[in-house]
Amino acid sequence: RAKSGGRARIDLFDANLRRQAMAVMRTEAELRAALEQGQLRLHYQPIVTLEDGAVAGFEALMRWEHPERGLVPPGDFIPLAEESGLIVPMGRWALREAARQAACWQARFPRPQPLFISVNVSSRQFRDDDLVGLVREVLAESGIAPSSLKLELTESLLMEDPDRCRERMMEIRAMDVRLSIDDFGTGYSSLAYLHRFPVDTLKIDRSFVRAISSGESNAAIVQVIATLASILQLDAVAEGVETAEEAGFLQDIRCKYAQGFHFARPTPPEGIERLLAECPARYAAPAG
Ligand code: C2E
Ligand code: MG
Ligand code: MG
Ligand code: MG
Repeated sequence: RAKSGGRARIDLFDANLRRQAMAVMRTEAELRAALEQGQLRLHYQPIVTLEDGAVAGFEALMRWEHPERGLVPPGDFIPLAEESGLIVPMGRWALREAARQAACWQARFPRPQPLFISVNVSSRQFRDDDLVGLVREVLAESGIAPSSLKLELTESLLMEDPDRCRERMMEIRAMDVRLSIDDFGTGYSSLAYLHRFPVDTLKIDRSFVRAISSGESNAAIVQVIATLASILQLDAVAEGVETAEEAGFLQDIRCKYAQGFHFARPTPPEGIERLLAECPARYAAPAG
């Protein structure tokens, strides 16, 4: 009896696994079709200079316009894209499209410092041998200044294979393209390594920024990261700024940039164009 019960459990287990595997395969096929049929979109979230509230650039954030499910957020498809390797062609598309869009906005909305564009690069895409060639190609096609292109890498990516990663970063940095560390503070121990990587920007993770308003003692972490950035002569971007209070605090501690719903949500290109047309009046710096 115990034996047959075990058998039944295993059958059930197999059936569940099979069903899950089928669902994954179906989504993967759909995702591949999405890429081929042009269902991927980029939304853009303004990154503002805290000192004057002006839009300095944008982060490109991927969306999937699914024929039935509507606009699918990246959290629901990027992990699968990473697992399947589809993230490589998807990321290639995103980099190209973001640079094309940035070139267009830089021409229509000229600034002393051209509007920059920041693009997320997953670990798989970063390790792909074609990445450096792709970046070179995208710069040539779009004509944007290399210094107005930023690639966002995660701490965990840096720590996977620090030596190779550093080499690749140097190649990219040699083209004058900028590198950001995304979600800074959530990974492990990169602090000890940080100065060894040719990084330009630390993006302070939303979890620390949120602590400012909730009065948690670890709001101090934001200040520590901003100070660390300035000691290392890096720019800091606070992610996920949702309130005027947070923006004010960040301005007080001289964090250079901020990004978050308080300023603007990730927005389709048409919305960004409207916003740029009335900018920078749109964003008054927080008072005090
Ligand atoms: P991320 O790079 O850290 O992007 C910031 C995320 O925070 C975005 O979520 C953005 O919508 C959200 N956010 C911004 N301000 C606020 C705020 O004030 N409050 C709150 N609650 N959230 C805010 P999103 O667009 O859902 O993207 C999630 C993640 O998916 C990104 O995190 C990034 O890791 C990944 N991702 C997005 N686009 C791409 C892409 O093109 N390639 C790759 N490899 N990953 C991408
Ligand atoms: Mg990012
Ligand atoms: Mg981030
Ligand atoms: Mg984050």
